[in-house]
Amino acid sequence: MSQTKTNQQADKGKRGSFRDHISTIGDDGKRAWIYPKKPKGKLYNRRRIVASILLAVFFITPFIKYKGEPFMLFNIFERKFIIFGQLFWPQDFHIIVLAVITFIIFIILFTVSFGRLWCGWACPQTIFMEFVFRQIEYLIEGTASQQRKLAAQPWNFEKVRKKSLKHFVFFSIAFIVANTFLAYLIGVDELKALVLLGPLENIKSFIAILLFTGVFYFIFAFFREQVCLIVCPYGRLQSVLLDSKSIIVAYDYKRGEPKGRQVAKEDRANSGKGDCIDCKSCVTVCPTGIDIRNGTQLECINCTACIDACDSVMERIGLPKGLIRYDSEKGISEGKRSIFNARTIAYSSVLTILLFVVATLFTFRSDVEATILRVPATLFQEYGPTHYSNVYKIQLVNKTRTDVPVRLELKSHNGNIQVMGDQLVVKGGDIREANFLVIMNKSELKTSNNRIVIDIFNGEKLLSSYKTTFIGPNSLDKEQN
Ligand code: SF4
Ligand code: SF4
Repeated sequence: MSQTKTNQQADKGKRGSFRDHISTIGDDGKRAWIYPKKPKGKLYNRRRIVASILLAVFFITPFIKYKGEPFMLFNIFERKFIIFGQLFWPQDFHIIVLAVITFIIFIILFTVSFGRLWCGWACPQTIFMEFVFRQIEYLIEGTASQQRKLAAQPWNFEKVRKKSLKHFVFFSIAFIVANTFLAYLIGVDELKALVLLGPLENIKSFIAILLFTGVFYFIFAFFREQVCLIVCPYGRLQSVLLDSKSIIVAYDYKRGEPKGRQVAKEDRANSGKGDCIDCKSCVTVCPTGIDIRNGTQLECINCTACIDACDSVMERIGLPKGLIRYDSEKGISEGKRSIFNARTIAYSSVLTILLFVVATLFTFRSDVEATILRVPATLFQEYGPTHYSNVYKIQLVNKTRTDVPVRLELKSHNGNIQVMGDQLVVKGGDIREANFLVIMNKSELKTSNNRIVIDIFNGEKLLSSYKTTFIGPNSLDKEQN
């Protein structure tokens, strides 16, 4: 590709081409700290709005209650999940698995069509890094060049004050984020109770919170873009997911090359230069330290900062915007913009259908889930002179918030069901277990192993039907033969 060739030549210095080194590792093999310039522009403003909404949702959601319970809860300790106010139990595992598979397909199709839109606009790592921690850094340490100067200067009062204030604020935010995560796991009421008890009464939880806080603090204070560059599996998948039609943040090398500095009042078209004035504004704003003019790179999180930076340069020198823009490789090489094409529309339709299927499954899943098992190591019992009985165990999971009285009926045969103990009532959001007898007239049984069906009712409403076996004496099989 001509673009690649040109930039390779341009980039060959003592570090070789951009393919020979990582932007965040210096010549000495140590971490090269990135000081990106604060972006400005239309896309940055839009991303800021999206980030503010997502941050508000993240911090407010644990406080939202629905019918007295959290609106969202991921209690892995008690295996209880509430998603958008709907209770889920391990019995709903198949729906969760389907939802996860759909989500993975969604991510794959979405990425094939729209590239790393997720990374730039909605990924928690980008949102916290660029719109929380980086903003605090700009506030305390100043612009990118002031930050670079501060890092290079010897430790004096100003540096100690700014660095310690920054890290104190970082740690405090990491502590708030860790507590918010815990609220998603155990619920805000439980968290409040833990806080009121104090750390000494709950030393394990307190240590867990400090560990969480330490991890968040380390990621956002030190590890930063390395999460996207070397840890995130989604980032690693880009090379197999993207193709020439995927929408990415791309540099229009056909229009931009050959790049060259702008000489005053020069007519670029007649001077043989492309539209790129080699000002490197797109490089200085990049949070992963790359040069988008080298083409699509794994490090690019599609944050659009370079689009805004280049657009403002183009505006200043009176050239059309969009030298760096959302486009596909094909769109750039063939010179026509193609954000929406037949392929993206087809993929979007598949995604819509998948989401619809999962939403339907979620909506129509049963309110009460039942599991019936014959009590292990038991055979049939004589029940008076004319009947046999088998003993079963039933487990009922109530996924609603109201108490559900349950009635069992033998559907497949004439016979009775006798529940042992109190009447079967499953409390809202609870699990109830009970034993019961199925009693059948001996004349009903044809073999020693009979398939029976038990209906489970709430009043007159059939909740579900359950198939199991009823054991009789082996002599029945001989009579059949
Ligand atoms: S900001 Fe635009 S003009 Fe400046 S170097 Fe980048 S691509 Fe070229
Ligand atoms: S190349 Fe542009 S879009 Fe990609 S990470 Fe850097 S600034 Fe963001």
